[in-house]
Amino acid sequence: MVTSTSEGASHRALIEVTPELQRRLRDPRVILGWLAIIAGAVALLIGYWGVSGTLRTGKQMPYLISGGLGGIFLLGLGAALLFGSELSEARKEIAEVRELIEGLYETREEAGLASSNNLVALARANTFHQGDCVVVANKPGVASITRTQIERRGLTPCRLCSPVV
Ligand SMILES: [Zn+2]
Repeated sequence: MVTSTSEGASHRALIEVTPELQRRLRDPRVILGWLAIIAGAVALLIGYWGVSGTLRTGKQMPYLISGGLGGIFLLGLGAALLFGSELSEARKEIAEVRELIEGLYETREEAGLASSNNLVALARANTFHQGDCVVVANKPGVASITRTQIERRGLTPCRLCSPVV
């Protein structure tokens, strides 16, 4: 039988305080949520201990009400606080992803502009041309055009210069 020693893993700290964890702990809801859950668990334990300590129903009632109901309320409160914190964390992440996607779109737009720099069109025409096409040469209102603009205006390529998008 081969025994492998995994000493390396045991050297790690019990709770690793990652930047992510530090960020989460800055949200007071996380601390309050866990405090409420711990308090709720303690209340339930005290309630259980009180109920099991006596057989008389009259004496059990206060324990049941304050320990049991109070404990359950605190557990629910803690869960709600943690859930709320989790939810706003998820919202933040969605916003970050959205920003990233918008940034990508802008980059793509710029790349499209660069690759079709040599494409031109007349202001109110339905066709687009290579920059050096004789059809548009020296005509007023000739402007360079992007791939996106071509798509948006539904322009067709000139038959003479057959521009490549
Ligand atoms: Zn042309």
